[in-house]
Amino acid sequence: AATSLYLGIDFGTSGARYALIDEQGAIHSEGKRAYSAPPVGDAAGWASSWRAALFQLLADIPPVHRSSITSVSIDGTSATTLIVDSASGELLAGPFLYNESFPDALPAVESIAPANHTVCSASSTLCKLVSWWNGSSSASGSSAAAVPVLMHQSDWLLWLLHGQYGVSDYNNALKVGYDPEVDAYPSWLTSQPYSPMLPSVRAPGAPIAALKDDVCSEYGLSKKCVVCTGTTDSIAAFLAAGTGEPGIAVTSLGSTLAIKLVSEVRVDDARFGVYSHRLDDTWLVGGASNTGGAVLRRLFTDDQLAALSEHIDPAVRSPLDYYPLPKKGERFPISDPGMMPRLEPRPESDAEYLHGILESIARIEAKGYNLLRELGATAVEEVFTAGGGAQNDKWTAIRERVLGVPVRKAQQTEAAYGAAILALKGANTLSS
Ligand code: ADP
Repeated sequence: AATSLYLGIDFGTSGARYALIDEQGAIHSEGKRAYSAPPVGDAAGWASSWRAALFQLLADIPPVHRSSITSVSIDGTSATTLIVDSASGELLAGPFLYNESFPDALPAVESIAPANHTVCSASSTLCKLVSWWNGSSSASGSSAAAVPVLMHQSDWLLWLLHGQYGVSDYNNALKVGYDPEVDAYPSWLTSQPYSPMLPSVRAPGAPIAALKDDVCSEYGLSKKCVVCTGTTDSIAAFLAAGTGEPGIAVTSLGSTLAIKLVSEVRVDDARFGVYSHRLDDTWLVGGASNTGGAVLRRLFTDDQLAALSEHIDPAVRSPLDYYPLPKKGERFPISDPGMMPRLEPRPESDAEYLHGILESIARIEAKGYNLLRELGATAVEEVFTAGGGAQNDKWTAIRERVLGVPVRKAQQTEAAYGAAILALKGANTLSS
């Protein structure tokens, strides 16, 4: 028999990607499809674009592999929300995108949730739900028979494949108020009139159901192929880059600097925007600084960055001390909305300047891991790197010196690869 393969699909901010892996993690096929924004005012157009991208990706998978696909999982952007009629399957409202803000719902949400809870942000899934609930006068505008259910983006895409209502995962459900520690919705949420709309929640990578027959026959997929719960895009990217051991961390050096650390202890602190996602028996603690590549890009082209870096000796400590920010304000590891960028004095040599900036960002990264430790998280033991900054070996060496732990470029960084790992996990659950 052919090798079993596991399919992961990522729905990010600008496009969808798939990765098809085997049990050893080797990639057998990959692909991507962009989706274009619908006209302004046509929110439902997003759902059509995503559906089209999902089925285009299935059609892009080389036919030779399709019958070997054992399981599939999908990640989506966090807090992207749809309201669907579970009687007809039709979209009742949304999609409300991850970054869409519903300040009208904030007073109501703040009055029921504990102080500083992650739902107390105008873009949280719960604010989206409450705003819709209040505005639609409990959906009486739609047909009386409609039974509205809340779906996250990845729940909805997975539903297109398996057809069962009301299943989600505890990573996506965090921002609607699910408590992953006790594995239940809290009573302040279940007492609300809209609580019947909330999905039941499983671990990410839990088998849900077999693929729908029509999907199998149209794409030549196996009827035994199992659809598994998903996660958010940033957790999927972590799963691609890191392993689940406490002390393992992934630093993402893209436009901004984000760190994620596997910890035995759950840590949440709204002051710094630090919160924890559950990863089976451990916690994934994250924080994000406003420093990062966006500042570098303003000063140097990527080619200049590569050329200037050649002149840097990473073993030598730079005496320059900056706090590179694209604009006023920092949250993590220093909570100060009024903090001003500090990029002076600028030495004559551009290489010295860059050395100072890279080392300053490395110190902010180290301060970030130290803060997580102070807040109670497991100490960092090894850092994998993702994002544009991971290409820079000199920077990696500087960071290794400043952080005092091994730093390496991550082998895999695509969220689709992380989703494929969840599909593999789901298949392993079934076979054991
Ligand atoms: P994002 O997806 O967050 O926009 P990427 O992960 O694509 O970002 O990374 C882009 C960033 O990487 C840019 O801000 C750029 O300045 C930075 N970058 C690119 N090449 C290098 C390099 N050689 N050294 C350091 N930073 C780099």
